[in-house]
Amino acid sequence: MKEDIKEILFSEEEIKNRVKIVGKKISEDYKGKFPLLVCILRGAFMFLADLVREIEIPMSVDFMAISSYGGRTESTGQVKILKDLDTPIKGRHVLIVEDIVDTGLTMDAVTRLLGTRKPASLKIATLLDKVERRKIPVKVDYYGFRVPNEFVVGYGLDYEEKYRNLPFIGILKEEIYKGKE
Ligand code: 5GP
Repeated sequence: MKEDIKEILFSEEEIKNRVKIVGKKISEDYKGKFPLLVCILRGAFMFLADLVREIEIPMSVDFMAISSYGGRTESTGQVKILKDLDTPIKGRHVLIVEDIVDTGLTMDAVTRLLGTRKPASLKIATLLDKVERRKIPVKVDYYGFRVPNEFVVGYGLDYEEKYRNLPFIGILKEEIYKGKE
C-alpha cells in the first residue's frame, strides 16, 4: 500500500499529538453538557476511536452512515442516509465527527438535517479541512489539520475502500485514480 502514497503529510505521532489537543479542548468546552459525538461512517471511525480516549468528561457516541453521490474522488452534496442515528438528539449537545471537509456540501446537508431535530447545540469536529476547495460555507468548530488540494488517504480515509488501515495520512499518487473518474 505504501508504494501508492506520493507523500506522507501527517505521521502517526503527529496525529496522536494533535488529536490529544483537540480532545482536551472538547473536554473543556463541553464540561457538564454530556455531549453526543456523532461519527460519520466510515471515514471518521479511527479519528473517533482516538478522539474519545482523549476526552475526559462523560459523553456518548452514535453513528451515522451516509453516501454521497458523485465521482470517486469528489462529492456532489446529495447525501443519502444509509444508517441513521439510534439516539434522539432533541435537547442534546451534538458534535459531529467527520474525516474531512472538502467542498462542504456533505456537512452542509448533514447539519441541516440534524438541525431539524432540535439539538441544544450542533458543532463539527473534522480531522482534516481542505479549506481552499470550499463551495459552500461550513463552520468547522474543531479541526485536526488543514490539507492542500490533494486526494488524501489513510487513518480511516479510503480510496475505493482501500488504505483506511494506514496509520498515517498521505497523498495518494494520481496514477492510482487518474482516468477512473
Ligand atoms: P465534501 O462534501 O465536503 O466535498 O466531501 C466530504 C467527503 O468527501 C468526505 O467525508 C470524504 O468521504 C470525501 N473526501 C473529500 N476529500 C477527500 C480526500 O482527499 N480523501 C478521501 N479519502 N476522501 C475525501
